[in-house]
Amino acid sequence: MTKYIFVTGGVLSSVGKGILTSSLGKMLQVRGLKPTVVKNDPYVNVDAGTMNPYMHGETFVTDDGGETDLDLGWYERFLDLSLKRDNSVTTGAIYKSVIEKERNGDYAGRCVQIVPHITNEIKNRIKNAGTAVNADVVLIEVGGTVGDIEGLPFLEAIRQMRMEEGYENTLYIHVALVPILDVTQEMKTKPLQHSVNELRRIGIQPDIIVARSTNMIDTETLQKIALFGTIPENAVFCAYNVESVYQVPLILDKQGMGDFVCQRLGFNCPNRDYREWQSFVDATINPLYEVKIALVGKYSGLTDCYVSMSESLKHGGAACRTKVNITYIEAEKFEKNPASVNELANFDGIFIPYGFGSRGTEGKITAIKYARENNKPFLGICYGLQLATIEFARNVCNLKDANSTEINPKTPYPVVDIIPQQKDKEHKDVKTCIGTHKIQLQSNTIIYNLYQQEEIMERHRHRFEINPDYIEILSKNGLVFSGKSASSTRIEAIELPDKYFYLATQFHGEFKSRLGNPSPAFKGFIQACKDKKIDKPKPTFT
Ligand code: GLN
Repeated sequence: MTKYIFVTGGVLSSVGKGILTSSLGKMLQVRGLKPTVVKNDPYVNVDAGTMNPYMHGETFVTDDGGETDLDLGWYERFLDLSLKRDNSVTTGAIYKSVIEKERNGDYAGRCVQIVPHITNEIKNRIKNAGTAVNADVVLIEVGGTVGDIEGLPFLEAIRQMRMEEGYENTLYIHVALVPILDVTQEMKTKPLQHSVNELRRIGIQPDIIVARSTNMIDTETLQKIALFGTIPENAVFCAYNVESVYQVPLILDKQGMGDFVCQRLGFNCPNRDYREWQSFVDATINPLYEVKIALVGKYSGLTDCYVSMSESLKHGGAACRTKVNITYIEAEKFEKNPASVNELANFDGIFIPYGFGSRGTEGKITAIKYARENNKPFLGICYGLQLATIEFARNVCNLKDANSTEINPKTPYPVVDIIPQQKDKEHKDVKTCIGTHKIQLQSNTIIYNLYQQEEIMERHRHRFEINPDYIEILSKNGLVFSGKSASSTRIEAIELPDKYFYLATQFHGEFKSRLGNPSPAFKGFIQACKDKKIDKPKPTFT
């Protein structure tokens, strides 16, 4: 019998529900249980594919090509799962399928309503996610904050699940902020009390309350939360600030959360094994080296836009005991003030992330040129590869004004061009190349040495690719094409072997990167940044 744990959030958004849900999964996993996770997102978008990252952070891509909320990335990173598009459930997706059924006549003339039709659709998706993988537990994170109008159908659906699945198979966790007043240093529980009341008004009494606070809550605060939350004191836990998010399962389990959850749901698993996880965490928080990375992007004001990438850089760092300090630089800065590119001298490596549209691209190209000319370790991902190719075409192959047709449709040298199939797409936001595809690596190259495999599987999300017509001239001038799609039509990796480290990939290694198993490209990059900093000869990765 599958059990269900529902996580809701109160007081404000970004309170850390995603990390808490992932941490809870880890507590269950180390006890030998099999969790899966569903994210319920109240927004009306059918998926995150069309969303501006500045509105909602990065779009996380699943193996099956789902464009989902970034929290799925946290679940995958913590639990080493490969989730599916269906693990992300938005209001838009729910309404779309209910309306399609209605148009199809499936409701046999009945009046289609939020209760029961929308709520049934939500419940079915939650249950299906569990049966699809035979999970012991489905963790359901309800996006947004309790009290939001949009979240009501989701809360109603999870309220009903208590009655349908039974008390012993369902558990509600509410996580809310407990602010500390800076004048008196007092911990304030009133906002949390109000959000618990709001939840009760909907008919949900939490079984566990997690106080999100900068410091560990004191006994008095804990007692107050228990009293006003109507739960025993041993059902109150505190997620306080830690150096690395990967420590959160450890600190909550130490407070007894894992045992409490298992007891309450009737799981008999007295042993837990944190050895592996602990060793990964230790590598992260006890570094021997330190590097400074410049991430030059167009969404540098919101670090959540690059969260999978920044985590992958940190995973790579943990593998070589290196602390990774990332500075987010707005690419347009180098366009407005070209001399400012020289500030890149202060960094050990230059990283160019994904991107769409023309804003900031010239600034990124300037940064790539700096990296190439000054032999700074360089890694580019997706747009990073495309812009590196443009830079090389312009400045090494003398193809003046070479560009991508995404940026300048009239460029005389379209070294990056739209994938032919994309041209027929009605909605330009639909990505022709999305999800996991096979890639072939050429031996004796950086990328091959990093993966130590001829064939790899990685995720994608793009519409434009290197134009095959320019491969000859680019190769003649020294650019090495070290990875290709199985059909050989798509260039998947480029590198410059004479540089200390210069690599770019069309695929997104960051989506499969894990703390104990970093994406090879990211790991190689950080290792090169660290080695160059301490004057070691360039790594061969063999
Ligand atoms: N804008 C580019 C494309 O669509 C790159 C996409 C990306 O970086 N994910 O091909």
